[in-house]
Amino acid sequence: MQAGRPGPSPVPAGKVKVVPMNWQSEDTIAAIATPFGVGGVGMIRLSGPDAVAIADPLFRPAGGGSLAGADSHRMVYGWIHADGEPVDEVLAVWMKAPRSYTREDVVEFHCHGGPLVLQTVLELVCRAGARLARPGEFTQRAFFNGRIDLTQVEAVGDIVSARSRAGLRVSANQLRGRLHQAISELKEELAHVAALVEAGIDFPEEDIVLANREEITGRLSAGKSRLADLVATAERGRILREGLGTAIVGKPNVGKSSLLNALLRENRAIVTEIPGTTRDTLEEATEVGGVMLRLIDTAGIRRTEDRVELEGIARSRKAIEMADLVLLVLDGTAPLDADDEALLAMVAPAAALVLVNKRDLMPGPAAPWAERLEGFESLTLSALTGAGMEALETWVRNWALSDERPLFEHALITNLRQKQAAEKALDAVEAALGGLEQGVGDELLAVDLSRALAALGEIVGETTADDLLERIFAEFCIGK
Ligand code: GDP
Repeated sequence: MQAGRPGPSPVPAGKVKVVPMNWQSEDTIAAIATPFGVGGVGMIRLSGPDAVAIADPLFRPAGGGSLAGADSHRMVYGWIHADGEPVDEVLAVWMKAPRSYTREDVVEFHCHGGPLVLQTVLELVCRAGARLARPGEFTQRAFFNGRIDLTQVEAVGDIVSARSRAGLRVSANQLRGRLHQAISELKEELAHVAALVEAGIDFPEEDIVLANREEITGRLSAGKSRLADLVATAERGRILREGLGTAIVGKPNVGKSSLLNALLRENRAIVTEIPGTTRDTLEEATEVGGVMLRLIDTAGIRRTEDRVELEGIARSRKAIEMADLVLLVLDGTAPLDADDEALLAMVAPAAALVLVNKRDLMPGPAAPWAERLEGFESLTLSALTGAGMEALETWVRNWALSDERPLFEHALITNLRQKQAAEKALDAVEAALGGLEQGVGDELLAVDLSRALAALGEIVGETTADDLLERIFAEFCIGK
């Protein structure tokens, strides 16, 4: 935690602490909340005890009166003035605490979206007493004021950076509190068990202890399986949020780069380039069937000169190892050769789709060697004409999202931090169950249970180390 920041008192490094909810900030922060550059609208946001007092003298409602005198949560049309001069024509709104993003008094000026006008208005509110907000500080205040928990903080960040529809839905559900709710229920259950254990410590009569032990075991086993279910969602949560690492492999000339271009072309708006670790690797991402595919080693696919077979196979092996999903491209107009066979042997059928390409040149609907693909999922398509691309989209969506449970209605673990804490909780619950079996004393059980409760508290941010919190908020942009 940085020195001078208002809020909970600092704790020694490495210690965990319970964050006190409903603390009040002493200062009022301000930032440009919209991206830098020219846009239709640009927004200045203020939050804190003096938000209205700072904004009020700058703003003149066109219909008379004042911003402070206007109803909360009502847009007011008017002008920002400075030194008697009009600066911009704006819509202003103030939101009375606690019904605001931060649970503090918030003012928003919706200005014209130009860098200079926004900078000018920001300087005006700072001159009037506001302080420039740090990255993520509005969301940080929402967290410290108890409006959202840490999983919801992370969901805010994920929504902002979402690049696929599936990822967006997962994050929106997390922001609605799905994971928060699941963790709260588990915590309640474990707290109940802890109370039963405490009763055994305080009143160690034989019959009470025995009755309790049975109930404790039952409740803990149920809690354990719910926790294990939750931990098991992590892989899917990661894929939906971060995208599927996808390798396109195949011999030279089968149509890999044509397929890559077809995939990228169809979704031009969402294409992004992620620089790889070496100059040589390039990752591009595209949305296919609502799911984000992170395409691994597209530089290798694009490099058309210098087609050294050996290097090609080694490269493919590396890409296959890194991938969640392998798209293995074969040329439907050519015989299957030893290189194709080598690649087929390299991929796991459960994590691969074989694409028989150049359908437009094939005499029949299937390649003559189609039987060789038994055990693999396969589609026939033409990367050149686009025939079969829709089937590919459908396949990807079904493969990534299929689950017996209605996926998006469920709590999902979506990042490594949450997963590690959930595993810690699971570990502690398992230790408690093991202890029960061996007939250990209530004091030891109580230790395991409080370990489990602390780990669950970490997920929602009640018992999270300060430096970790700082890091999470620092990843946000200013104004969020
Ligand atoms: P790569 O070496 O695997 O990346 O293969 P390319 O994408 O460079 O394609 C090799 C050649 O096959 C190019 O001339 C492409 O135009 C052609 N090609 C790729 N896909 C198709 C297809 O579906 N139909 C036809 N007719 N030609 C294709």
